Formats: sequence, C-alpha cells, structure tokens
Amino acid sequence: MYQPTSLHEASGLLKESGPGARFLAGGTDLVIAMKEKGLVPNYIVDLKKIPGLTGIRENTDGSMTIGALTTMREIEISPFVTKKYPFLAQSAAEVGSIQIRNRATVGGNMANATPSADVAPALIALNATAKIVGLSGEKQVLLEEFFRGPGQTIMSPEEILTEITIPKTDPLLVGEYIKFSPREMMDLAYIGVAVAFVLEQKQKRASNVRIVLGAVAPTPIRARKAEAILEGQNLTEDLAQKAGDQAATESRPISDVRSSAEYRRAMVGAMTKRAILNAAAGPAKSWVERRERRY
Ligand SMILES: Cc1cc2nc3c(=O)[nH]c(=O)nc-3n(C[C@H](O)[C@H](O)[C@H](O)COP(=O)(O)OP(=O)(O)OC[C@H]3O[C@@H](n4cnc5c(N)ncnc54)[C@H](O)[C@@H]3O)c2cc1C
Repeated sequence: MYQPTSLHEASGLLKESGPGARFLAGGTDLVIAMKEKGLVPNYIVDLKKIPGLTGIRENTDGSMTIGALTTMREIEISPFVTKKYPFLAQSAAEVGSIQIRNRATVGGNMANATPSADVAPALIALNATAKIVGLSGEKQVLLEEFFRGPGQTIMSPEEILTEITIPKTDPLLVGEYIKFSPREMMDLAYIGVAVAFVLEQKQKRASNVRIVLGAVAPTPIRARKAEAILEGQNLTEDLAQKAGDQAATESRPISDVRSSAEYRRAMVGAMTKRAILNAAAGPAKSWVERRERRY
C-alpha cells in the first residue's frame, strides 16, 4: 500500500500501477469488496495523507465546499450543514451505523457510484459540482453528470474526486431527503428521494424545483417532468400527489430479492409526495419526528 502526500503523486502511482490499483478513503466499500466480493487490487493508494481533502467550509461567495475525505458523521453533525441544508445532514445520517459514518467519506460514496448511495440525491438536489483532479489537470463537473451506471463514473482510474461544492442557495430554499428501507437501520435504500425548492412563504409558491430519485435507476436521476408540475405553482397536497405520481412514472426500478419494480415504483410516488410536503412544513425537530413523518 502506498501513502502519497500529494494529488499528483497519488494519480501518478495509480497510472504506473496499471489497471487494478485502487484508491482508499474510509475503506467501507473497498475493504468489503476485497473481503467479501473477491476484489484483489494490485496496489492500494491511500488518500488520507494528502493535505486539504477534509473539512467543510463556507466560501466568500456563499457557496459551501466539502472535502472528499470528509466523513458522513462530520456532515451529519456540522453546525453549518445542519443549519443551512438540514436535509443534506439528514441524508448523511441515514448511512449505515455511527461506526460506518465515522469512516465512510462523501468522496467514497460518490466514487463508488452505488445507485442507492444516500448522499448523492441530496447533493444533486442542491446543484452540487464535483472537482476532479488528475495528471492532466483539474475539472469541475455537475454531480448530476458524474454518474454513468452502477459502479461507474466519468472519472478515469487515476483521477481523484477532491471536493464537492454547493453553490449559493436562496435563503427560502427548503428540502427533504427520505430514505425508504423497510428494515430502517443498517440497510441500503430501496428508494431515496431528495427534493429541494424555493418556497415563497405567503402564497406557498414553489420555484427552482429539484426532485432527485436514488436506487430506482442505474444512477441517481432527476424527475424533471415531476419538477415541472410544481414549478411556479402554489403548493397543495393535490399538486404534491400529481408530482409524486409523475416521479413514479419517471423512475426505472428493477425487481430483485428485496422488492419488485412495481412496489418500488408505487413507493416512489408516495415518498416523493411526502418529501415535498415535509420540505414545505420545515425541517423535523427531532430524529423521532423525522422517522414518524416519513409515512
Ligand atoms: C455495514 C455498511 C453499511 C452501509 N450502509 C450504507 C448506507 O446506508 N447508505 C450508503 O449510501 N452507503 C452505505 N454503505 C456504503 C459506504 O459506507 C459508503 O459508500 C461510503 O461513503 C464509501 O466511502 P469510503 O470512504 O469508505 O470509500 P472507500 O471504500 O475507501 O472507497 C470506495 C471506492 O471509491 C474510490 N474512492 C474513494 N475515494 C475516492 C476519491 N476521493 N476519488 C476517487 N476515488 C475514490 C475507491 O477507490 C473505491 O473504489 C455501507 C457500508 C457498510 C460496510
């Protein structure tokens, strides 16, 4: 295992080692893949000694940057995130157990590209971008365009996701993330729904609507036609229902041992409606309230 101290060195090592080398962040996906799924990397290149990859900072332009090696637990309890984007903190709090969240990084969650990754829908709903650094330089891409399929991203093997930036948001932005998994704890999402929109409080008019579905397509997807139903409209339960029904038709779930596609599609409708109404009602005041108002 290598422990480089710069991004250039880390990328160079991966390039030299050829196919089969892997970066290591928290190891909660990689080590499981090695122990239980027969993955045998040629080399492991640990990213943790590279400075500047952790932490959450507010930028002078009002945007917020999260280093790729920031853990889920740091996002969950960050005073800045919990105040400004409670539903992002909420999505991080849904990951595994506290032990997992103390190791699992946001960059690993994105780079591993599991369709059920909990934090991806909330970040896409916030219009986040990913900074990717490789031997040929750096680029900034919309997180929405980062995923290519299960386990696949736009990054080449030697590229490193270094940080995620959420652009400045409207002070009236509201949002919600609902993870649906019948086992509730320590289970991957059957469905993840993140919604974010600007809510003009007097007339309850919604704008800049984003509805992002996880675990019901090969990548997280935006339900754009469902977004259009809400855009510029005064929010009512009936409208939330219509948007939910539309989101269900835009989802592309599979049937597997955990549930049928039909069940997942029906639950997308119900969870999307619920997420919209919860977002409009404001953040849950406690963990218990958050669990209760999911259904
Ligand atoms: C018991 C258990 C429960 C879990 N529950 C959930 C859950 O409820 N929800 C959920 O979303 N996930 C869950 N996970 C999955 C996992 O914790 C997350 O996906 C985690 O965020 C991965 O981050 P990591 O730092 O551990 O990544 P690692 O395992 O270190 O890396 C994962 C992959 O990403 C690559 N990589 C890592 N960082 C970078 C980077 N900065 N740039 C480029 N490539 C990189 C690695 O090479 C590797 O291929 C669970 C895992 C376990 C073991």
